[in-house]
Amino acid sequence: MSKVCINHPDREADTKCIACLKPICNECVVEYGEQAYCSVNCRDQAWKTTANIAEMQERERANAKKRAMKKFIIFIIFAAIVGGAVYYIMNDKDSMKKLKELRNKIPGAESNEK
Ligand SMILES: [Zn+2]
Ligand SMILES: [Zn+2]
Repeated sequence: MSKVCINHPDREADTKCIACLKPICNECVVEYGEQAYCSVNCRDQAWKTTANIAEMQERERANAKKRAMKKFIIFIIFAAIVGGAVYYIMNDKDSMKKLKELRNKIPGAESNEK
């Protein structure tokens, strides 16, 4: 490697920070898991980015769930409206029949009907 450490100009860099890509020597490496960073700042930033991505994915999943829930609720409302309408029409027919029967029972009303 031809690059020198950002902290030690007289030393050759052994690796580079995976966050800012600055060359660093083994002594300056801040390790986090299997990754090498030039500083705690870079490590924290990279960690935050990873955390943000995870958070974003989590939010996206929650949104998808919400959307599915909304669709489900709309379906339920739609089904209730259709069901209600069908029930109303059927009930109305029934009451119309009852009304006719009632009219037939009343003398005089029958002649009006026919
Ligand atoms: Zn860095
Ligand atoms: Zn160094």
